[in-house]
This record gives sequence, C-alpha cells and structure tokens, in this order.
Amino acid sequence: MKQSFLFTKTRRDAPTDEVSRNAKLLIRGGFIHKEMAGVYSYLPLGLRVLNKVVGIIREEMNALGGQEVYLSALQDREVWEKTGRWDERAVDSWFKTELKNGAEAGLAFTHEEPITAMMRGHISSYKDLPKYPYQFQVKFRNETRARSGLIRGREFLMKDLYSFSRNETEHQAFYEKIKQAYHTIFARIGLGEKTVLTFASGGSFSKYSHEFQTLCAAGEDTIHLCDKCRIAVNSEIISEHTACPQCGNEKLTQEKAVEVGNIFTLGTKFSDALNLKYRNEVGKETSVFMGSYGIGPGRAMGVAVELFADEKGIVWPKSIAPFAVHLISLASSTKVKKEADALYEKLQKEDIEVLYDDRDARAGEKFADADLIGIPLRAVVSDKTPVGKVEIKARLTVVGQERTSDSARIISHAELLKMVSGK
Ligand code: ATP
Ligand code: MG
Repeated sequence: MKQSFLFTKTRRDAPTDEVSRNAKLLIRGGFIHKEMAGVYSYLPLGLRVLNKVVGIIREEMNALGGQEVYLSALQDREVWEKTGRWDERAVDSWFKTELKNGAEAGLAFTHEEPITAMMRGHISSYKDLPKYPYQFQVKFRNETRARSGLIRGREFLMKDLYSFSRNETEHQAFYEKIKQAYHTIFARIGLGEKTVLTFASGGSFSKYSHEFQTLCAAGEDTIHLCDKCRIAVNSEIISEHTACPQCGNEKLTQEKAVEVGNIFTLGTKFSDALNLKYRNEVGKETSVFMGSYGIGPGRAMGVAVELFADEKGIVWPKSIAPFAVHLISLASSTKVKKEADALYEKLQKEDIEVLYDDRDARAGEKFADADLIGIPLRAVVSDKTPVGKVEIKARLTVVGQERTSDSARIISHAELLKMVSGK
C-alpha cells in the first residue's frame, strides 16, 4: 500500500486524557481512533494488526475442531434470567437497552447463556457430541476503570469458544488440548516468552480455572510466578495456594501481568439452568458438560505495544505487524523514484505486504513515522543506494533488554525478496 493513499495521519501528540502507553502510541500512529473513554475504532493499520491476531487464533481453533459462528450482540433478557445473571447484583457491567414495546434486551457482555440456549436445537443425542462452536464477537462491558487503552475497553472483540461434551472425561481431554493451543497462539503472536499459565479462582465447577497472563508492567493483575516452571498463581487465590502448583516451590515472585486469555470448566451449570440435555448410549437424559475459553485479540495487541515499544514508537512482532516491510523512498531525483517504484512493484508482485512511503516529505519525517508505526523491517532507496540495491534496517526495541539495535546494511533486491518472503 502506498502511504500517500492511506487516509490516516500520524500525529505528534496523543489526547491529553489518554494515560496508557498503548493507546497513546496507537492513536499517534493512526492505528486506532478514540471515540470516548474505553471505546476505540480500528483504522486501516490497526485493523490489519487485529486481523493478523484473529487469523492466528482462528487457525488454532479450527485445528482443534472449532466451528466458527457469529452470535448476535443483542441478547434476550429471558435467557439470562434463567441463570440469574440478568440481575445487576450478579453482573455489574451490563449495558442494557429497551425495545419499542418496552421489553428489555442486553448488549452482549458474554455468550454462555445465548449459545447454550441455541445449542438445544442442535444437540439431542450422544452422537451430536462433542461440539466446539467459537466466534470473534464484540462484547460490551461497563468497566469502571477504562484507562488502559485496548487492554480494557468498554466495547471490545473477544474470541470465545464453548465446548459441549458428553462428560467430564471427554471435557478434560479437550481442556488439555486447548491449553496447549493457547500456548501456541501466544507464542505465534510474539507474546510467548512473557505469557504464563496461571491458576485462578474456579469456574462454576472446578476448583481452579486457568488464565494466560502476560508479564507486563502496565498489568492490573498481580500474579505469583514460579521461575522454574513458568507457572503462576493469581493473587486472588494465593492465600490458599502459596506454592507452585506444579513443583511445590515456595519461592514465588510477585509480578504485574495482563490476562490475555482464560479457560474455564463450567460443568453443567449452564446446561442445567437452560435445559441442554442429550440422550446417552442407553437412552438416559444427561446434562451436557461445558467449558468456555476466551481471548481478547485487541487486548493482546495492546499488550504487544506495551511490551515492545521504545521511546521512538511501536515495535511489532513480525507475525502481527501491519506490513512485512516499510519501503521508504528518499527521492531527490526521478532516477531514485523510479528505482523505488520498481522495487515496490516487485514486492507487490510477490504478494509481500509492503507499506511504501512514496510521500513528498523530508527524510527525518519519514524515518520518525516509520519508527512510530513500527514495521519490523525498513528498506530505504536513496541517492546512496546503488542501482538494484536497498538499505535495510530492522526496527528493534532500543531500550528493551531483550533486543538490541541492528545497524543498517545494503543488500540486493533479490536478497530483500528472499528475506521477506521467507523462501
Ligand atoms: P479481566 O479480569 O481483565 O476483567 P475477565 O476475567 O473479565 O478479564 P473474560 O470475561 O474471561 O475476562 O474475557 C475473556 C478475555 O477477553 C480475557 O481473557 C481478555 O483477554 C479479554 N477481555 C476481557 N475484558 C476485556 C476488556 N474490557 N477489554 C479488552 N479485552 C478484554
Ligand atoms: Mg472483567
């Protein structure tokens, strides 16, 4: 994509009421637009990142036998009354609305109730189980504190998968599989090294649920980490669980973290309340055994910004970067411009995701924008680059401990193509 074509502009300053690093940088880079506190719209660059995160999660959910659905965001009050969760003493973050006829509807804060009710039309025999519908769907929550940018929105995208199994044994086998899939997902997104499985207070059935917590100074959660196992315990339950659940180590270190995903055993709480039953092999009516599994793709994106950004701007992990390469033309002559245009065409032809800064702007401005936008690889064509060659430089975190700055070097177009196509 040509940068001159992109309608978004980078800006020097973030809104003054924005305190989180992720929101400041994402707004300045033109990734998101702040509608109001805790409510953000995704702009072309931001949507590309979000879609990358979603794409990775979708692949892993499909590999587990997930089937994608898209449930409505407007929800029927009656369904929620069956489990007692319409009551604001049970759920204090509801957004509710009224229909013209006076009936009330809810704006999806989660989907356990509606999906359980819906599955009654599709599950009646043991032969219909297990099933794993999932979706990427908007949720609305009237969060008290929405000061963490994409990490805590009042409207946000969630991946939620629901498992419907015959019994606890069948459920448990799936639960272990999805646990592994979550590790794979966070590794693929670039958060793997910082994301740890964490024991948290139970779902409705089991003693514990599991969270995937990413160690991050901006996190609102406190976890207690076992350095040996890379497993943690959420501070909510630490009083009853003061040692590592895996190795018994009692020297746990306290860390700030963000919950990027979680997995819950629900048992038959929802199927009992909403009458989701099946006939087993001997014809006996049995409640379906359930689990639910969430990930916040926008939250994961916000956490990636928090973790890898430096004083110059965002640094995207390769797998979720909006483009694979940022081509910058410093054209002082038509010859240089032609060279850059030709390289852009070549990259396009090879289906390489390239953002081409073809704008008529100063070099300093182009580099500052490139640093802010954070595409992992920068390729510059200028008076200094010989014909058929390009100067490349990796966008790496300068201040972060893990990554160090990589100096620029000149390579051929062919080498660049090879590098970004991974062939
Ligand atoms: P938290 O404790 O942080 O409020 P939660 O326990 O309410 O999270 P769930 O209801 O289990 O979260 O939602 C599943 C996933 O959705 C979370 O793991 C998180 O990644 C994401 N998520 C939850 N709330 C938000 C939010 N307000 N903004 C963005 N993502 C969110
Ligand atoms: Mg919450």
